[in-house]
Amino acid sequence: MTGLPVRPEFEGRSPYGAPQVPAAHRLNTNENPYPLPDELLADLGAALGAAALELNRYPDRDALDLRADLATYLSRSGTAVTPDQVWAANGSNEILQQLSQVFGGAGRMALGFTPSYSMHPLITASTGGTFVDGHRRADFTIDPDAAVAQVRELRPDVVFVTSPNNPTGTAVALDTITALHDATEGVLVVDEAYTEFARPGTPSALTLLEGRPRLVVSRTMSKAFGMAGLRLGYLAADPAVVDALQLVRLPYHLSSLTQAAARTALAHTDALLATVDAVKHERDRIVAALPGLGLTSVPSDANFVLFGGFADAPAVWQGLLDRGVLVRDVGLPGWLRVTAGTPAETDAFLTALGEVVAAPGLGG
Ligand SMILES: *Cc1c(COP(=O)(O)O)cnc(C)c1O
Repeated sequence: MTGLPVRPEFEGRSPYGAPQVPAAHRLNTNENPYPLPDELLADLGAALGAAALELNRYPDRDALDLRADLATYLSRSGTAVTPDQVWAANGSNEILQQLSQVFGGAGRMALGFTPSYSMHPLITASTGGTFVDGHRRADFTIDPDAAVAQVRELRPDVVFVTSPNNPTGTAVALDTITALHDATEGVLVVDEAYTEFARPGTPSALTLLEGRPRLVVSRTMSKAFGMAGLRLGYLAADPAVVDALQLVRLPYHLSSLTQAAARTALAHTDALLATVDAVKHERDRIVAALPGLGLTSVPSDANFVLFGGFADAPAVWQGLLDRGVLVRDVGLPGWLRVTAGTPAETDAFLTALGEVVAAPGLGG
């Protein structure tokens, strides 16, 4: 990095970031395209106005009311979660960073199974730890026996499992998660950023928390809740994990405006999550249309689809962009990732894709 004395582990690394290219249809960052409900917008105005009156004061350092609301939301799944099992931060990225600061760091190792969320290695490195790349099978699933063997051999301090996985889309079987938990002496972090989009019969790792004090389930309001701009991530774990995170969280890390906005959003959970079924419908429409274009996809429990069968995925990416559709090239040869959103976005994507695969040299 041009002569600056940055830490050696950052030499030659690129910062996280999808290219922010202007396009009519931006289907590259897994956001929810639906506008926020009017009644939420009105309540947000009032709640933020009230919070503004107190901005001369530091926020509630422990975010007690917000954590209670998050526990109530999580408990709706049928697994009782108490506020002392919940911690919140500025996006689940900050949650992952705090976990790495406490349980990873210098002289410690994290294991993940790539291709997966690129922030896991980056956060591991930025907190001074070493990231070891586990393996997935050719269909992008985790081989439980191979994964357990790696955990036994490497003895990582932190194990990351993304479920549903990003960028591939598939949820990880719960018995794989329990096997990894039982094999590791470290902390197992299940990153469930997309769990609300999972196909029916795909249980959350929340159901496994009881009796597993080294299991952490990380969640976010950025995806299904459609509030990526809010920056609110959270976790559920044993209360002792939450206590440990207090050692590294910055004082007053979560602003009173963030806490007020998140609580207001959670009061409108049903309205916010009402778009989840519509998004899942569009995802399934994309999946169903691909074979007709001679393409395949990876089974998706998320609001995106990894689709492929391309000889030259970057050329297809460019062909789609030329037609106003921005998808994500996640660097997997032959594959691209598209975010599912509105019916109009699906139409635009499938039309453009049809044209691109018909062009000589670009199809599968
Ligand atoms: C989008 C995403 C997140 C969300 O990060 P926030 O900081 O909460 O916006 C976390 N994990 C994965 C796997 C993601 O794809």
